Amino acid sequence: MLISLIVPCYNEEEALPFLYDAVCKVASDESSYDFEFIMIDDGSRDRTLEVIKGLRGKDDRVKFISFSRNFGKEAAMYAGLQKSKGDLVAILDADMQDPPSLIPDMIRSIENDEADIVAARRVSREGEPRIRSFFARKFYKIINRMIEVEIADGARDFRLMKRKVVDAILSVSERQRFSKGIFAWVGFRTKWIEHKNVERVAGETKWSFWKLFKYAVDGIVSFTVAPLRFATYAGFFFATAGFVYLIYYFIRAIILRIYNDVPGYPSLLCFILFIGGLILMALGMLGEYIGRTFIEVKQRPVYIAAEEETDA
Ligand code: UDP
Ligand code: MG
Repeated sequence: MLISLIVPCYNEEEALPFLYDAVCKVASDESSYDFEFIMIDDGSRDRTLEVIKGLRGKDDRVKFISFSRNFGKEAAMYAGLQKSKGDLVAILDADMQDPPSLIPDMIRSIENDEADIVAARRVSREGEPRIRSFFARKFYKIINRMIEVEIADGARDFRLMKRKVVDAILSVSERQRFSKGIFAWVGFRTKWIEHKNVERVAGETKWSFWKLFKYAVDGIVSFTVAPLRFATYAGFFFATAGFVYLIYYFIRAIILRIYNDVPGYPSLLCFILFIGGLILMALGMLGEYIGRTFIEVKQRPVYIAAEEETDA
């Protein structure tokens, strides 16, 4: 049986040697399996590609794809899954934050037929900036309330999957991929392995606040139209309120003959601003979905490879 390990790498020249040693150890401990290491160079600006080529030079289990520019981790994972040949396939980060030492446990769970997917979950977020943990937690709360499949808080992309799961994931052909959602959406029996947060072994995180914010919006918008529905409800509520107020005003003016128009000016202004804001918000949401349709319709590939040495 062949196990494919997929490693997305973006500026990971410092971390890769550590990772390579760790996966080699796993491979030698699990000698009843064959291994392939698929490294995806996601348009790195440092010497990542040279490091990968160096590894390939001495170890032909190492395969690689090098992107023509930075396409993001989602694209890198997709490319890796596409090129993987393994009966079992795992995805793990290059920085050792997905401890390779968990892989044997994952393999055992699959061997015992406890699950089709064994996924890792972080139970602590120690060592991560507070503000990031805070927003991450809120994000998972909000998204789980809105979509019909459940995405676990602290779930990572780190997982070992059977071939049939990989094929199912690849059959989800959308371009703007939000893997955590796709993993949950394809279903299958999942077993969770919990581990503490590990700090990256070298180099630094590629996530900025802005990137994470975009990731959160992508995640929500690619899985649910609930925000649009919210805009509809809010619009309906305010339109009704406006109508009721109009009737009230007419009764006052025509039947009770009370006229005191000018003092109403401030409240009127408030209302206009508020409703204007709501309309803009609804337009923004519409824009997100239309933009998404636009990008899907173009059917562009998820990534462009500049160089590739794989079996696929
Ligand atoms: N990564 C990637 N492309 C990107 C950003 C990140 O392939 O545009 C890879 C990165 O090399 C690492 C993994 O995705 O292997 C996770 O990234 P990072 O460690 O920076 O994220 P964090 O652990 O801070 O969430
Ligand atoms: Mg990391």
